[in-house]
Amino acid sequence: MKVTIRTIGCRANQADSATLGRCLDPSSVTIVDGFAGADVVVINTCCVTAEAERDCRKMARRALREAPGSRVVLTGCAVTAIENFGKDIEGDVEVRGGGDVPMEELAAWINGKKEIGPDRDIQSFSGAGRSRALLKVQNGCDHHCAYCVVPAARGPERSMPMDEVLDNVDRIASSGYRELVLTGVQMGAWGRDLPHGHSLAKLVEAVADRFDVGRIRLSSLEPWSVGEDLIDVMAGHGRICPHLHIPMQSGDDGILEAMGRGYTSADLVRVIERARAVIPDLAVGTDVLCGFPGETDAAFDNTLALLREIKPFHVHAFPYSSRPGTRAATMSGQQSRQVARERVRVVLGLGEEMFTGFVEGQIGKVREVIVEGRRSGEINGLTDNFIQVALSGGDPSPGALVTGRLTNLPPGEHHRDHHRVVVLLDRQAHVGELS
Ligand code: SF4
Repeated sequence: MKVTIRTIGCRANQADSATLGRCLDPSSVTIVDGFAGADVVVINTCCVTAEAERDCRKMARRALREAPGSRVVLTGCAVTAIENFGKDIEGDVEVRGGGDVPMEELAAWINGKKEIGPDRDIQSFSGAGRSRALLKVQNGCDHHCAYCVVPAARGPERSMPMDEVLDNVDRIASSGYRELVLTGVQMGAWGRDLPHGHSLAKLVEAVADRFDVGRIRLSSLEPWSVGEDLIDVMAGHGRICPHLHIPMQSGDDGILEAMGRGYTSADLVRVIERARAVIPDLAVGTDVLCGFPGETDAAFDNTLALLREIKPFHVHAFPYSSRPGTRAATMSGQQSRQVARERVRVVLGLGEEMFTGFVEGQIGKVREVIVEGRRSGEINGLTDNFIQVALSGGDPSPGALVTGRLTNLPPGEHHRDHHRVVVLLDRQAHVGELS
């Protein structure tokens, strides 16, 4: 049986799809890339924006067109949060799983009810060899930001128990991964539902102690989750990548309050300043939601001002879209799509400038790089502080950790890749594989 798995949305969804893939029985199921020839197409859906929802429908229609006769299965957040999702798609699509149904169950259904595979929530990011593994340690969110449907789709906060996390960490290490990315829907909430008052800081410290073959990266954390304890653990542990992605969403205190985010722009500045003071070369990324109801030009200017103040090197910007069932959907002051899109454009332009500034400041420094694979004849890697690099010198294997000095590409070879400048590792400074 040939199965295609497609994922729309965040890292939590990617981790779920990876779990599905790993639980399929390799003796009877082949995972294929394209739709043509697939017997089953699974689309792991997202509903965080209207665009994401549209993309899911578009993908389902494409699967029906390109793989006639296949079973097109919708699962994930959109089928959980949106009643009758998929009913408007002309053709035979079926909804399976979603909500609290684990991917293992969907896999068991595809396998013909035969459950296999010990790995849970582990994902390789690399197409060639083993490099980065994703471990989802938390699911759900109790925060209920005014614009967000994720709590409806993912349910209440649940943490993977510490023992289970550490067992997974051992499995990832022995599988050959040298970078472990911890992720969750609202990862900062890890431990709140566990009996002994564990915190994310304690989890990260325990994981970093255990994962002694490589490095740890934390995926997105809400501003209220980045406490002093976590910053101290990051600063004090050489295995934790100097990289924090902290969604700001807006720089205007009135809009932040209307969003129900629970912090002010000054709080965010304090968190980032504190982290930068003790974590050298920290890369800070952020998300911005543009065109929230009531966002005036002045409020948007405050967002730009906050971006200039915190100088993230990586900015994701999204146009606000009204999600049924959210508080924001009934707020006055809804903006046109055009306004939201124009603001996204402005934010991304500013983001490019800040990205260039950060990378220029890193040229000449020695950084640790994980080798991800080859693309267009180049060996690609990712620094601990999240800069994509092309390697010059040596031929390290995918998944290896190497160190080297960042240098500029020669003129003419300077190009951007997903908003990341590609730089070269200096041949002389290349010290080879660490492990
Ligand atoms: S913290 Fe807010 S934006 Fe993030 S998942 Fe929870 S409700 Fe959504």
